[in-house]
Amino acid sequence: MASETPILLVALDVPLAKHFDFLCKDASSDDIGRLVVVPFSGKQVVGIAVGVAHSSEVPSEKLRAVDLVQRATPPLASDILALVRFCERYYHAPFGQIAINIVPPLLRIAARQLKPPRATKPRRKTATTASAAVAFTAPTLNTDQQMAFDAISGALGSYSAWLLEGITGSGKTEVYLHAIAATLARGQQALVLVPEINLTPQFMKHIVARFPAQVIVTQHSGMAAGARLVDWRLAESGAADIVVGTRLAIFTPMPKLGLIVVDEEHDASFKQQEGVRYSARDVAVFRASTIGCPIVLGSATPAIETLDNVTRGRFKRLALTQRAVAAATLPRVEFIHLDSEKAPDGLTATLLAAIDATIKRGEQAMVFINRRGYAPALVCAACGWMPECRRCSARMVFHRGINKLRCHHCGAETKPPKACADCHETTFHPAGQGTERIEAALREALPTARIARVDRDATRRKGSAAAIFDATSAGALDILVGTQMLAKGHDFPNITLVGVVNADGAVFSADFRAAERMAQQLMQVAGRAGRSALPGRVLVQTRHADHPVYQALQAHDYARFVSAALVERQLMQLPPFTYLALLRAEAKQADKVNQFMRDAQHAAQRLSQSHAQADAVRVWEPVASTLERKAGYTRRQLMLQSPRRTALQTLLTALIAELRVSDNRSVKWVIDVDPIDV
Ligand code: ADP
Ligand code: ZN
Ligand code: ZN
Repeated sequence: MASETPILLVALDVPLAKHFDFLCKDASSDDIGRLVVVPFSGKQVVGIAVGVAHSSEVPSEKLRAVDLVQRATPPLASDILALVRFCERYYHAPFGQIAINIVPPLLRIAARQLKPPRATKPRRKTATTASAAVAFTAPTLNTDQQMAFDAISGALGSYSAWLLEGITGSGKTEVYLHAIAATLARGQQALVLVPEINLTPQFMKHIVARFPAQVIVTQHSGMAAGARLVDWRLAESGAADIVVGTRLAIFTPMPKLGLIVVDEEHDASFKQQEGVRYSARDVAVFRASTIGCPIVLGSATPAIETLDNVTRGRFKRLALTQRAVAAATLPRVEFIHLDSEKAPDGLTATLLAAIDATIKRGEQAMVFINRRGYAPALVCAACGWMPECRRCSARMVFHRGINKLRCHHCGAETKPPKACADCHETTFHPAGQGTERIEAALREALPTARIARVDRDATRRKGSAAAIFDATSAGALDILVGTQMLAKGHDFPNITLVGVVNADGAVFSADFRAAERMAQQLMQVAGRAGRSALPGRVLVQTRHADHPVYQALQAHDYARFVSAALVERQLMQLPPFTYLALLRAEAKQADKVNQFMRDAQHAAQRLSQSHAQADAVRVWEPVASTLERKAGYTRRQLMLQSPRRTALQTLLTALIAELRVSDNRSVKWVIDVDPIDV
């Protein structure tokens, strides 16, 4: 129906793939990308204007007026809107849901209060005293670094994608810094994505120290709302030269963006695991290609998909083959065979003796165990019963420090049971090890050692991880015990020994990507040893020293692991030989989600058969998710697999349209394209 008043088309944060029409008498195409506030379901909600029209299918008496068009702040830039469109198409998530959630929370809050957001004073990030040790001047690049830098800097100004593959300590950061300097010299901005900002304080210090006169801002979810907005605006106005952030930073508006760097590109944290399940790395490649700038993906252990992109000629590979510090060599990797040596409390006498000798020499050691808490289970000494979470299909993890059982999936906490639920006996034993137990065992065996634990529990307080890493650099600690938080990019020259405890479980997990992830983590952790003139050593406690993951680790040959993994993937027709998508669904009642999944499976089969043979998508049986029950919900997943991405995407589009029509309110579902845990 034609309308005299212009109609503003608004995308909302709702799970519906459509926009909504509202009257807006002064609407114009300049409003596209602006935040708006509209009446919706009896509430005022924030949306994004996506278009202007002069007619609507909605009957005029039902059309409502917008409450506010936020013109006090700039609209989302058109290239960011294009990025959202890409995510909408590729990840099959509604435009509004993506667009609203990339905007800093304070902008949304201000809009909802029908106010312009209050400006806070801009801050400048300055080099802190702790970074006094960091060189302000750039070192001379070695041959490998120079070749990599020449390639990247020569490509500035148009799209190109580079894998910067360099063993740990080979000086990738230095290549980034040079490439950033070349970008800034052209008057452009640089965007650097890192896995977890709090784990890369050294990286921040390097950047701040190297570019003291430039405006450097950050974007990550842990920032105070005011600071996040200030930094966003500096980026958006072009005033910020460098943006460093976690995955969400890929959506930061940067009018002069000239270079994107994704550090530790293999890291799983680049994939958002809730809400819109995007991969920031893959979105970054798309962004670089549309705006026309180079993207550099850096890693010592690239994702198998990334290596496949090199093989297919989509990315070009730049290799750094030597440790940058001349005297630094790769650590020697040795195995402690758990078949022939006992490990009470998780640590063998051999590993303890090696740690002791290390700290007696005045050097430092690191112990890596990929599980936090004291013990992954408590066991009844009489009958073997183990307390489980009431809302998840998972055992409760024993945290001795707070004397509680905690569910690592839903966060539920209880007191340890007084008596066994099955046999009523009252003696329990902790089973297996976590970081807390290894820490306790180390304290008992080496009472004078200065030990710190690094895991999510121990570093919850802001800045506590940074404090531990500073203390390590300053030599105030002897031993670090921790999870994969230890693996990421730290550079501690005095760490000469790395112990690996309890990695076997992850190596043999059901998830086909588990071995790849463990190979990456172990190579990263091992890379913490021997980063200076002091020789490094890695001791791995295992029952399976012949597993390809450990063999590759020992030979410092990640490529060898990748070759072995690729043979297996090809045999089983897994990525990168095929493309995957998961339909994930959950409901409070199991029969509801079962019925939904059966219907979805049949719909997918019917849709897949209507395609030409070559485009066939394989529709699997719905199965229970790895964690079948979480927070009281029963969870199922349906895998769709195809050798052709377009065939998979076409089927997903059709399937989602059917699922949305069925509108089953008791079942929550989401599509996960390129899932990383299956
Ligand atoms: P990566 O990120 O590849 O693990 P880093 O960038 O942390 O490696 O570099 C490892 C160490 O080598 C750092 O201490 C860094 O300052 C130093 N370094 C890097 N490049 C050079 C160079 N060309 N000359 C001297 N030292 C270098
Ligand atoms: Zn019992
Ligand atoms: Zn739980």
